[in-house]
Amino acid sequence: MTETPDFPQPGILFRDLSGLFADGPSLRAVAGALLDGFGEMDAVVGVEARGFVLGTAAAVNAGLGMLAVRKAGKLPGDVLTESYDLEYGTAALQVHPDTLPAGSRVVIVDDVLATGGTLAATLRLMERAGWRVVGIAVVIELVDLGGRAALEALTDAPIEALLTL
Ligand code: 5GP
Repeated sequence: MTETPDFPQPGILFRDLSGLFADGPSLRAVAGALLDGFGEMDAVVGVEARGFVLGTAAAVNAGLGMLAVRKAGKLPGDVLTESYDLEYGTAALQVHPDTLPAGSRVVIVDDVLATGGTLAATLRLMERAGWRVVGIAVVIELVDLGGRAALEALTDAPIEALLTL
């Protein structure tokens, strides 16, 4: 992992996991550990963009499918949209509500939990789509930014981080 100060905005210390993704044994280890400890699930949900890498690796490892939660404007047709605040700016996430059957049990995967805005928006999307979140898994939780509390206000699902900083 690298840490870059003042990226992409002044005051942000940006952690980048590109090196982990590029290393075969590391990616395999993370893929194998991310879904540990959660109960039965029907699919993995990956948040654009690093959640796609991690979510797909973990899903393949577990023999499951991976549903991509996309940034706004990438999906055609009828979509659900949830806006959220980032550490740096605002954005929106979208999903097709008919991609999984109603009541599907999902685990949401992303690389970093910071303020929790991204995963909170993803939780709202899951609820609106009728899917049941049975876990949230990240590689890194930045504990000082309070994301866990923001998510615990929305869900009883367990939140697991491989590394806390
Ligand atoms: P949050 O919404 O929890 O504030 O921020 C988490 C989202 O922003 C994740 O999707 C994550 O990819 C991205 N993010 C926030 N801070 C960092 C960081 O330091 N490093 C990386 N790689 N992503 C970050």
